Amino acid sequence: MQELTNLALRSGQPAYRGQQLFDAVYRQKIERLDQVSTLPLEYRARLVEQGWEVGFPRIARKFISSDGTARYLVELADGETVETVWMPEGDGGESGDGSEAGDEMDSGSASESVVARSPHIHMGWRRATICVSSQVGCAVNCKFCFTALLGVKRNLEAGEIVGQIAAVLREQGVEPPLQRVNIVFMGMGEPFLNYDNFMKSVRLLAEGVGIPESRMTVSTAGIVPRIHDFGQEPLRPKLAISLNGSNDALRTEVMPLNRKWDLEELMKAAREFPLRARERLTFEYVLLADVNDAPEQAREVVELVRGIRAKINLIALNPGTELPYRTPEQERVAAFQRILVAAGIPTFVRRPRGRDIFAACGQLKRTVEVAPGSP
Ligand code: SAH
Repeated sequence: MQELTNLALRSGQPAYRGQQLFDAVYRQKIERLDQVSTLPLEYRARLVEQGWEVGFPRIARKFISSDGTARYLVELADGETVETVWMPEGDGGESGDGSEAGDEMDSGSASESVVARSPHIHMGWRRATICVSSQVGCAVNCKFCFTALLGVKRNLEAGEIVGQIAAVLREQGVEPPLQRVNIVFMGMGEPFLNYDNFMKSVRLLAEGVGIPESRMTVSTAGIVPRIHDFGQEPLRPKLAISLNGSNDALRTEVMPLNRKWDLEELMKAAREFPLRARERLTFEYVLLADVNDAPEQAREVVELVRGIRAKINLIALNPGTELPYRTPEQERVAAFQRILVAAGIPTFVRRPRGRDIFAACGQLKRTVEVAPGSP
């Protein structure tokens, strides 16, 4: 907003032109500057002349899972692509999307539910979660994650983060008010290594698109200095931290960034993180068969999070062919969960979403083929 106001002032326009531009871009979602009917024709022409452009990133490909999840390959202005995932909740049941949606009491009756119609899938949904990318690729070298294989190409601009969401909402035919749309910053990239643009996108989404911070969750691999900064933000999404190892040796093996910020530093930052009333800090723990899924390791996790108002999301590894890890048996996952629950820690097993189209956690790698045997 401020930037648009400054832009208007610099060209001798009144300050409220900034607000008009903002509303046109973020609320009316205009596609060309000459469509901003609230601006004088002459000013529209000047903006175009100066080379300003607005618009949606193009959806280059769309893959639809048998569970309703859609994975979008979104093309940016310079031809780079990132992935954005749409996860509808058709049944109001347990959420498998990493957001808090499944924990919520659902007070709406069926008749109040939001129904989106798209030319591709005809299903009602009571709420949906969009998983958004923050970078092209990722620089954090987690050994169990597909995105890591890409390396990092560049940071996304705030507008490119918001653009993914705007493009998907439009493609899904979703109109404001967006009361039941959650955002998770859990796609490609490490949001805390693109911190300023990530936070700017949060503000744009809240002020412009109308999705409140309380409906957003950001996940970090554990960039400790940024966890401190994030705690100081007056308005912020909820925080999730990817734990994935119960001791330093194990965590360093699967997340080499643990050498830079080890568990002592990470858990200190977590302990000091200022939580709001009723807020919990989420820890994600990807279970890798015979690597970090033993009962003993669950007991180490209990010790690690002691004293923190935490909740734990367990994610059984989503397989990828080039990865040296296996998915644990369901019973192994359940046993791990039981130990945490018995220690009084709310622990959920995330239901994988869109595995058949490579849309699930850790599978985002701009894959153009789909899994064998999927529709
Ligand atoms: N870079 C951030 C955001 C990505 S979130 C972060 O690391 O937190 C993606 C989540 O999926 C993380 O919790 C990560 O640990 C998890 N993940 C990565 N690869 C996975 C895989 N192959 N199977 C299941 N979960 C995975």
